[in-house]
Amino acid sequence: MSVLIFIDQADGHIRKSSFEVLSYGSALAKQMGTSAEGIVLGSVSDDIAALGKYGVTKIYHADETSLNQFDAKVFTQVIAEVSLAHDAEVIIFSNNVDGKAIAPRLSARLKAGLVAGAIALPDTGNGFMVRKNVFSGKAFANVSLNTAIKIITLNSNAYKVTEAAGRADIIPFTITPNQPSVKVTAVNKVTGEIPLSEAEIVVSGGRGLKGPENWGILTDLAQALGAATACSRPVADSDWRPHHEHVGQTGLAIAPNLYIALGISGAIQHLAGVNRSKVIVAINKDAEAPFFKAADYGIVGDVFEVVPKLTEAVKKLRKG
Ligand SMILES: Cc1cc2nc3c(=O)[nH]c(=O)nc-3n(C[C@H](O)[C@H](O)[C@H](O)COP(=O)(O)OP(=O)(O)OC[C@H]3O[C@@H](n4cnc5c(N)ncnc54)[C@H](O)[C@@H]3O)c2cc1C
Repeated sequence: MSVLIFIDQADGHIRKSSFEVLSYGSALAKQMGTSAEGIVLGSVSDDIAALGKYGVTKIYHADETSLNQFDAKVFTQVIAEVSLAHDAEVIIFSNNVDGKAIAPRLSARLKAGLVAGAIALPDTGNGFMVRKNVFSGKAFANVSLNTAIKIITLNSNAYKVTEAAGRADIIPFTITPNQPSVKVTAVNKVTGEIPLSEAEIVVSGGRGLKGPENWGILTDLAQALGAATACSRPVADSDWRPHHEHVGQTGLAIAPNLYIALGISGAIQHLAGVNRSKVIVAINKDAEAPFFKAADYGIVGDVFEVVPKLTEAVKKLRKG
């Protein structure tokens, strides 16, 4: 029996979210008195044996170019075969786009109970109880998994990355994946932008910025901080910003270390996508704006006065 952890990669590099699931899966394996093992699909240029420092002892690696392109059905098939071959009792994914696509398919295929969006290590003292957020982070639910195989997707920023000395054994394997049902013929990537889902710092703007012509003050601050940019839904709906920047209940859910909201009211649907951020700063000219109740720090003021001053202060601090 083992805990199998899916190690996500993009363009040959291990994704940051994988360090978190590796630390989580290794801690769970220790708690269950079993081993933590990883699985990597596709060609990788990073040193994957070094991932042993997060507690995994073995990593199954299918170094196949056909797996470089993510395909949920194919990845599900491969992970199902590996997990059955190695008797995995718990299978863990990041609760990101890939994890959300594979985990439910795998759950159906293996008849395994699934908890999506776990926020803590399971309680294995009496059964197998996993804690997750519900109602957009307003409440918790403790979900009991009673199936022989269990699947968990872990929310980002929910578990501390821990490192120790150690290297993992790499176990190469070959597999004949099913023919993908969808063929990606071209990928056009936005370059020069920090991906929102992986950003440590996010600067986000709402209708308080009045129009797309004013976005320069936001991007200047983002640049000074090395941050990604985001926006509220009406901003994306009005085409002031692209839809991939929209965060909230109907947009992307993010959990950066620092989220700075400029001229955003803090409606519940917006907060649903950002309330797992470690630290929230709200800047709004209305002292009664709901965002101030969710924020760790607040500035009551006009964004057009406050933000350029903040950017200057950040630049000075970075120079010094
Ligand atoms: C089913 C449903 C799903 C939704 N999903 C989402 C979602 O995923 N994400 C999302 O964001 N919204 C979502 N919404 C919309 C949400 O309810 C709010 O309407 C929206 O978040 C408001 O956006 P806003 O704060 O940018 O604009 P507003 O509500 O117009 O707020 C603008 C804020 O800017 C402040 N302001 C104005 N001028 C200045 C200034 N010069 N300086 C400083 N502050 C200033 C104002 O005081 C105000 O608080 C959803 C709504 C529904 C019904």
